[in-house]
Amino acid sequence: MTSSLVLGIESSCDETAAAVVRDGCEVMSSIVATQHDLHQRYAGVVPEIASRAHLERILPVIKEALREAKVELHQLSAIGIGHEPGLIGSLLVGLGAAKALSFATDTPLVGVNHVQAHLWSPCLDSEPIQYPALGVVASGGHTTISLVNGPTDISVIGQTIDDAIGEAFDKAAAILEAGYPGGPAIEQLAEEGDDQALKLPVARLGETLDFSYSGLKTALLYAVRGQPQGRGKSVSYPRSASDLDVQSRRDAAASFQRAAIRALVNNIEQALKQHEVTCLLAGGGVTANTLLRNELIRVCNEHETPLRLAQRKYCVDNAAMIAGLAHAQWTRGVSHGLDLAAAARVAG
Ligand code: AMP
Ligand code: MG
Repeated sequence: MTSSLVLGIESSCDETAAAVVRDGCEVMSSIVATQHDLHQRYAGVVPEIASRAHLERILPVIKEALREAKVELHQLSAIGIGHEPGLIGSLLVGLGAAKALSFATDTPLVGVNHVQAHLWSPCLDSEPIQYPALGVVASGGHTTISLVNGPTDISVIGQTIDDAIGEAFDKAAAILEAGYPGGPAIEQLAEEGDDQALKLPVARLGETLDFSYSGLKTALLYAVRGQPQGRGKSVSYPRSASDLDVQSRRDAAASFQRAAIRALVNNIEQALKQHEVTCLLAGGGVTANTLLRNELIRVCNEHETPLRLAQRKYCVDNAAMIAGLAHAQWTRGVSHGLDLAAAARVAG
């Protein structure tokens, strides 16, 4: 079988990324231009700033991915594009570039679902997946547990009913004035903290595998700033994170991290008990977290289930996972026309 090269393009949120992947798994190049510096002072992604930055970066990033892979456009078998879900203005920039390249070079266009691509990321620089698997996506916008019967044959069996786990890390970092992006900042602050110092809630939603992170966030807010006075826009707090000593902030970060990860891991353990699977797949930005990675190793050992954890560099948004999943779709006969639409949300 001859090998196939796929260019992946990703612009769903605040990373502009392009990658070339051979046969779905072998990463030839993976270029990610982050925009953290642009969004830092707002402590969150500003959609208008994100799409403008994508426009400036998309072509240099694609060129760099091709250059590093030593691949020319005419060698590509397909162009994969993350077209849903995400920030609509950001998605449209990548999609426009992908369509233009596809049209100009007469190369098939393959639309890829970003969340499904996170479940492909464990294959990158590694082996293909044996299905059926249990899939966990823990990222800035998604917290899901799924039954994965094929690359895009994915049924969600548990999901967040409010904030995503990564969003909770980002909000916790804002409450603790720990820095941006929040996940790595909390992880670093937690390193020398006592994770039992604060009793924070670990949500359990009855017998379901769903998640809720908003209560944890509020509990941390009150623990750090004290009980709120007033309501609505006139609400005020007796203190802020900067009034706490360093050790108290470390303890709060460690307690938060423990509770947030406990809630995720509890449901994963539950799902592993309920479903017979060949492996556990895990991807998304939060799976870069060392405590979570160690907990996943522990749980999978206990359940004698092989763990397929994305390498750290492929946990946060990247285009290699888009190219890899696009290859899997393309080899199954899937490609899209130039009328492919971007979608901020995906039904179901
Ligand atoms: P993604 O949405 O997949 O790009 O992932 C971004 C999210 O992952 C953000 O909410 C980050 O705060 C979070 N994140 C990244 N690294 C870590 C980490 N080491 N620990 C916890 N969360 C993280
Ligand atoms: Mg993502």
